[in-house]
Amino acid sequence: MKPDLFEAPDYYNLDELLTEEHKLVRDAARSWVKREVSPIIEDYAQRAAFPEQIIGGLAEIGAFGPYIPEEYGGAGLDQISYGLIMQEIERGDSGVRSTASVQSSLVMYPIWKYGTEEQRKKYLPKLASGEYMGCFGLTEPNHGSNPGGMETKFKDMGDHYLLNGAKLWISNAPFAQVAVVWAKNEEGRIHGLIVERGMEGFSTPETHNKWSLRASATGELIFDNVKVPKENLLPGKSGLGAPLGCLDSARFGIAWGAIGAAMDCYDTALRYAKERVQFDKPIAATQLQQKKLAEMITEITKAQLLAWRLGVLREQGKATSAQISMAKRNNVDMAIKIAREARQVLGGMGITGEYSIMRHMMNLESVITYEGTHDIHLLITGMDITGHAAFK
Ligand SMILES: Cc1cc2nc3c(=O)[nH]c(=O)nc-3n(C[C@H](O)[C@H](O)[C@H](O)COP(=O)(O)OP(=O)(O)OC[C@H]3O[C@@H](n4cnc5c(N)ncnc54)[C@H](O)[C@@H]3O)c2cc1C
Repeated sequence: MKPDLFEAPDYYNLDELLTEEHKLVRDAARSWVKREVSPIIEDYAQRAAFPEQIIGGLAEIGAFGPYIPEEYGGAGLDQISYGLIMQEIERGDSGVRSTASVQSSLVMYPIWKYGTEEQRKKYLPKLASGEYMGCFGLTEPNHGSNPGGMETKFKDMGDHYLLNGAKLWISNAPFAQVAVVWAKNEEGRIHGLIVERGMEGFSTPETHNKWSLRASATGELIFDNVKVPKENLLPGKSGLGAPLGCLDSARFGIAWGAIGAAMDCYDTALRYAKERVQFDKPIAATQLQQKKLAEMITEITKAQLLAWRLGVLREQGKATSAQISMAKRNNVDMAIKIAREARQVLGGMGITGEYSIMRHMMNLESVITYEGTHDIHLLITGMDITGHAAFK
């Protein structure tokens, strides 16, 4: 792979909207990605392997629980810092960002928000340091966009719960020590349970043959009469709103992360277009390639403004789920379109692993589907503005 010469586009001087702390956090994540992710990621993606050696570094840059209070091992940062960290990691690779998003927003967040003080003290510091890795089990073979239909169940056996069912498409599953699993009780109410690797009847087979997020491990969670201690139930919130609250936090991170992937594709295409000479002039001097590049920077700038404003609203506790849906949908769509255009700017070279663009493009095919598909987020906006739920 080519050396990482990334220079971040900032067409509207958005750095002026950031605090010194935001810039420090962002720059630390940026240099770490250049040093530790860019040189190895293509090889891991080609081999469909997760680079476990980067777990410690992710913890050091605050990627595991950026906004979780420091007393639980988190970085105690604000929402914009969280977004900027996700942007920088996804600039390196969406699979690596997925690992960090799951750990922070789908495992640490529910334990912090819905867990007991004992659960917080037991799990959060280990998850923040990367000693424990976590996964989040919501999706099932028969229930993706409609998780409320889930079939995974648990029964109260007096001194423990008995868990049965299966989850599919679970990021981090093959190596996670801890799984936050969503299941229905005997009354059909959804609750979160903390399931640990090693519990009898719990297995996590890996999902192979992915063309996307190849550097992120994905698997199933199988529960065959798993005895879950009663103290592992998350008591603070139940119902579908509990997992959806976690998804709000993760989708916010994705809205920022997708900007990172788009920035990398744009920066690569711009540099290539200035260097590549055809018909005795750089292709950057042709109107058609300028159209592509000009549209890319316009879309990136709009996405940056959307993400920044959403960060302010979220920090103030005012961002709605529908606003988060709009940003996730818009920014991922923007990134995947930029990846496709940028790939063409590089001609044949664009399909090789010498450049990051094709990997970003394939990764974004998962990002546009997980955490709510492109369609479902549009229908959430539709419901929000009309009052009618078209997806039910
Ligand atoms: C790489 C990867 C990692 C993932 N990681 C996790 C994870 O860690 N944890 C987890 O719980 N899940 C995870 N997921 C699952 C992901 O969230 C689901 O794939 C997603 O929610 C879509 O579900 P589905 O694949 O079953 O598609 P379906 O829900 O079957 O949808 C298929 C198509 O139908 C459309 N559709 C569905 N309903 C409607 C409707 N009412 N109206 C119009 N169109 C509709 C969808 O938009 C989509 O285009 C992951 C997925 C991938 C690919």
